[in-house]
Amino acid sequence: MATSLLELFLTRARQAPGRPVLDFERQRFSAGQLAGQVTAFASALQRRGLTSGERVALFLENSPAFVIAYLGTQYAGGVVVLVNTQYRQVELGHILSDAGARVCVTGAAGAAELAPLKAQLPALEWLVTETPPDGPPDAPLPWPAVDFDALLAEGDAHASLPLPRGEQLAVLGYTSGTTGRSKGAMLLHRNLLANVRAVTEAWRWTENDRLLLTLPLFHTHGLMVGLHGTLYSGGSVDLRRRFAAPEVLSALQEDASLTLFFGVPTMYGRLVEEARRTGLRPRPLRLLVSGSAPLSPQLFRDVEETFGQRILERYGMTETLMNTTNPYEGERRPGTVGMPYPGQEARVVDVRTRQPLPDGETGEIEVRGPHVFAGYWQRPDATAESFDAEGWFRTGDLGLRDGDGYFHITGRARELIISGGFNVYPREVEEVLATHPGVAEVAVLGLPDPDFGEQVVAVIVPRAPAPAAQALADFCKDRLASFKKPRRVEFVDALPRNALGKVQKHLLRERLQTNVAPVSVQK
Ligand code: ATP
Ligand code: MG
Repeated sequence: MATSLLELFLTRARQAPGRPVLDFERQRFSAGQLAGQVTAFASALQRRGLTSGERVALFLENSPAFVIAYLGTQYAGGVVVLVNTQYRQVELGHILSDAGARVCVTGAAGAAELAPLKAQLPALEWLVTETPPDGPPDAPLPWPAVDFDALLAEGDAHASLPLPRGEQLAVLGYTSGTTGRSKGAMLLHRNLLANVRAVTEAWRWTENDRLLLTLPLFHTHGLMVGLHGTLYSGGSVDLRRRFAAPEVLSALQEDASLTLFFGVPTMYGRLVEEARRTGLRPRPLRLLVSGSAPLSPQLFRDVEETFGQRILERYGMTETLMNTTNPYEGERRPGTVGMPYPGQEARVVDVRTRQPLPDGETGEIEVRGPHVFAGYWQRPDATAESFDAEGWFRTGDLGLRDGDGYFHITGRARELIISGGFNVYPREVEEVLATHPGVAEVAVLGLPDPDFGEQVVAVIVPRAPAPAAQALADFCKDRLASFKKPRRVEFVDALPRNALGKVQKHLLRERLQTNVAPVSVQK
């Protein structure tokens, strides 16, 4: 039995080398071609002295080079460090030095971004995948860089290298940094394999499936669900550099071979708007999946109306990959993230006593199973705090399980607002405000309050005509207990979001605390 996804992919590529596996722009790779490039990259890395367990950072946009470097690094016995392409110097410096990366694979734009870090990371080797399209072809870089294609040519496409063992470290996945500085989650080959098995089984993913993938490959959702699922099932992927609503809608209209699309809620919001604007109706797919951030019941219904099908919402995280999913065949419930995948466990515990809670009560979600990571890279303190003696991992997410076994996520433990001794879950207030016609986007958070400990603050991106702050507070008051009503309402042009479309509340909090002219609402 295979001990890694890599092994499975290579075996399958030998058995059916002609099967198409990856399309990108005008390039098409069969399984055999991709496996050859992966092997060449791995053998070149080994020739250059990469040893087992050394870290190779990928600072790359979606591209075949990403896929080749990702699998090739693993085949060479290395550990892939995933780096968000939106990161700039401070975050890059943190991740590359925290991970102790030996090699960094990047494109021309990435190399320019990384240039000032050269002095901070003198031992790092750089591989550059492309020359700038409009600059001089051999613009000097501040370090001796090796050309990615030259490296591929230097490797042996038929080499036979030892395969990684299940217990070996495969990936350092840095968390999104939504709640603070990102940490490196140590994912073993067996974690990746257990996860992809569970996901493909739950969603009945087969070799007949073709995925339209516009999510970034540097993140769990695009990589460990999208690419891994494709490689495991033997299907194919139409990979795009990035998401653009008009392109996705026309692909869904024109390409009848597509069966799967995965997105984050912001993408679905844009698709719905674009479909309404143009009157285009995408053809139904076998499966539409949403995850990475909460999908509001309102958006669930909008998607149902636009796509004529019910979206499947799932819940996962860098540390544990996929945790829960709505059923493929059973009822997909709006506002819920479904049940644990096959072979995994999830429960809700009291935040203080850590005892399991009865259904219907809100606490912290914990998970356990073969998909759960091996700990945070060089952070034994953070690792110890996150696991109990029985191996349950504390997700940091608040939620409940309803009487039918569906999990609901109510927010992050760190973002719970305690106002006047009452618990306020920001998400509940956000969902109410999102139904107001004058609200395009909303984020709710707690700020210090001298009387109540914390006060509920709503930050709104308005839709014309903009509503009055007082009207929004009254709207909540009619629908929620009075202590949940926002005491302060702020209007902004856009919410700070990370690459996955998650609202970065810590940035909003910083801005609000230094903001001198808030639009306040009386109690
Ligand atoms: P950090 O841990 O650095 O603060 P992060 O938690 O956002 O960042 P990720 O691992 O990318 O980093 O995201 C996982 C988190 O995303 C989950 O813990 C959960 O809070 C949220 N999430 C994922 N899927 C869903 C979903 N379907 N509904 C609500 N929240 C979700
Ligand atoms: Mg997290």
